[in-house]
Amino acid sequence: APPVLAIVGRPNVGKSTLVNRIIRSKQAVVEDVPGVTRDRVSYDAEWNGKDFTLVDTGGWEQDAKGLHRRVADQAELAVDEADAVVFVVDGLVGATAVDEAVVKMLRRKKKPVLLAANKIDDSAQMAEVYALWNLGLGEPFPVSALHGTGTGDLLDAAVKAM
Ligand code: GDP
Ligand code: MG
Repeated sequence: APPVLAIVGRPNVGKSTLVNRIIRSKQAVVEDVPGVTRDRVSYDAEWNGKDFTLVDTGGWEQDAKGLHRRVADQAELAVDEADAVVFVVDGLVGATAVDEAVVKMLRRKKKPVLLAANKIDDSAQMAEVYALWNLGLGEPFPVSALHGTGTGDLLDAAVKAM
C-alpha cells in the first residue's frame, strides 16, 4: 500500500482547502464553519512521481466533548495510521493554546511532522510564521492553500519524510 500522509490541525485552519490543492480537485468539503469534516477521509494523491494516500481530518480540539471528541479521536486515529503528518496552523493567527496541545499529542505519536503555516496569501504576512519555530517542530512552511503558493516545498519535504 502507498504511504499515508495525514493532515491535522484545529478546525478552520484550512486543512480541507490544502487537501483539495494537493489532489487538484474540490472533493474535500471546505466551509467557513469549523468541524464540517467529521470523519477521516482518504484520497489518492501523487507528488514528484510518488503515490501516497492523503487523509483529511475534522480538526483536533483540546478537552473536546461529544461530537468534538469524536472528531478529535478520528484525527488521532489518522495520525496513528499515518507515515507522516502535516500539522496545519493558521499562519496569520500564530500558535494558539490548542495548537500547542496538538503538538503535545503529535509528540506522543513519534511520527515525522511537517509544520504548515497556512493563509499566508501575501509575503507581507510572514511575521507570525517565524514565531512558529517556537513550536519545536522545525522549519515552518508558509503556504496559501487558497492560492497554491508554498505547497510544492511542503510536499517535497512531506514526500521525503514518508
Ligand atoms: P478546515 O476546517 O481546517 O478543513 O478548513 P477549511 O479548508 O474548511 O477552510 C476554512 C476557511 O479558511 C475557509 O473559509 C477557507 O476558504 C479559508 N482558507 C483556507 N485556506 C486559506 C488560505 O490559504 N488563505 C485564506 N485567506 N483563507 C483560507
Ligand atoms: Mg475540513
